[in-house]
Amino acid sequence: MSPPTLFIDRDGTLIEEPEDEQVDSLAKVRFMPGVFTALAQLRDRGYRLVMVSNQDGLGTPSFPREAFDVPQNFVLAAFRSQGVEFDEVLICPHRADEGCGCRKPKTGLVEGFLRRKPIDRDSSAVLGDRATDLELAARLDLRGLAIRRNGPLAETWPAVVQLLTARRGEALRHTNETHIEVRVGLDSAESVKVSTGIGFFDHMLEALARHGGFALELTAEGDLEVDEHHTVEDSALALGDALRRALGDKAGIARYGFLLPMDESLAQVAIDLSGRPFTVFEGTFPRDRVGALPTELVPHFFRSLSDGLRAAIHVRVTGENTHHMVEACFKGVGRALRQAFRRDGTELPSTKGVL
Ligand SMILES: [Mg+2]
Ligand SMILES: [Zn+2]
Repeated sequence: MSPPTLFIDRDGTLIEEPEDEQVDSLAKVRFMPGVFTALAQLRDRGYRLVMVSNQDGLGTPSFPREAFDVPQNFVLAAFRSQGVEFDEVLICPHRADEGCGCRKPKTGLVEGFLRRKPIDRDSSAVLGDRATDLELAARLDLRGLAIRRNGPLAETWPAVVQLLTARRGEALRHTNETHIEVRVGLDSAESVKVSTGIGFFDHMLEALARHGGFALELTAEGDLEVDEHHTVEDSALALGDALRRALGDKAGIARYGFLLPMDESLAQVAIDLSGRPFTVFEGTFPRDRVGALPTELVPHFFRSLSDGLRAAIHVRVTGENTHHMVEACFKGVGRALRQAFRRDGTELPSTKGVL
C-alpha cells in the first residue's frame, strides 16, 4: 500500500517566519510550538514527510546559497536528532516574476514527486501557514490543513495531529423498514447524540458510547408502528459497521476487552475485535419490557452489533432488577469496547498479521 504522505511548508509552519520573510542565519531559526512531538507522532502513524518550500531568490546575491544552507542543515539535523527524517526536501528558488512552474501554489515540485513515488491520496495532506499552501492542496486535490503561529487552536500542531490521526467512521442504512445514520469517533468522546424513538434504548446507547469512550451520533427512524425489532436490530448493525470502519486497519489497538461486576446485577463481558462475528448471551430478564424496549431485543442487539463490528461479544448477566441488568450489559460492553479500541503504537495485535 502506498504510504500516506504529508507535504509540509517550512517557514511559518515548521519554523517561525521572520519579519523579513528570509531565514538566512542561525539566529533567525525558531521552531514552531509542538512541532517535534507532532512530527514524531505522525511518523509513528506511518506518515511519510516531505518538505515543500518557496525560497525566493535563493542563490542570488540577496540570498546566497550558503546563507540558506546553514539554517536549513541545522533544522534538518534538529529533526533528525529526534528520529524525524524528511523523505525529500523540495525547494523552489525562483521569484514570482520568473514565471517558473514550481513556485507554490504551482504544483510542479509535488507533481514531480508524485511521478517518482505513489502516495495514499485519501490520507495524505498539504500543511502550511499561507493561503498559497492551501491553494496548492486544492490544485492537487489533496486535503489542506493550516498551521499558524498565532491562529486559532485548530491551527496548532497538536490539533492537526489529532485531525489527521483521529479514527472516524460512519454508516448509513436505508431499508423499507428503517432509515439509520451513524457517525462515530473513537478518539474523542465529546459528543453523544442518540435518537431512535425508543426512550430506554436511547438511554442504553448513550451509556454504551459514554462508557465506551467514543463519540456517537445515531438517528434511527424505524417502523415502530409494527414493533421495535427492526429499529433495534438495524441500529446495532449500522453502529457495528461504523465502529468497524473507524477501526480501519486496527494497527496498535488493544483488541481485547473485559469487564466484571455492577451492583446487585452482575454483567460479565468479554470482547475480541477479531474480524469474526460471534455472540454468546447468557441471562434471563425477570420482566419482558423496560420502558418501550422489549428485553428479548437486548441479546438480539448484541448479536447484530457483533455482526456489524465483526467481533466476538460474550455477555453473561444475573440480577433482580431488569432495568439494572440491561443497563449493566450496555455499560459493560461499552467499557470492554473502550479497552479494546485503545490504541498504543502501530503494531497489529495478531500473530496472523491480519484482523
Ligand atoms: Mg510558509
Ligand atoms: Zn520555481
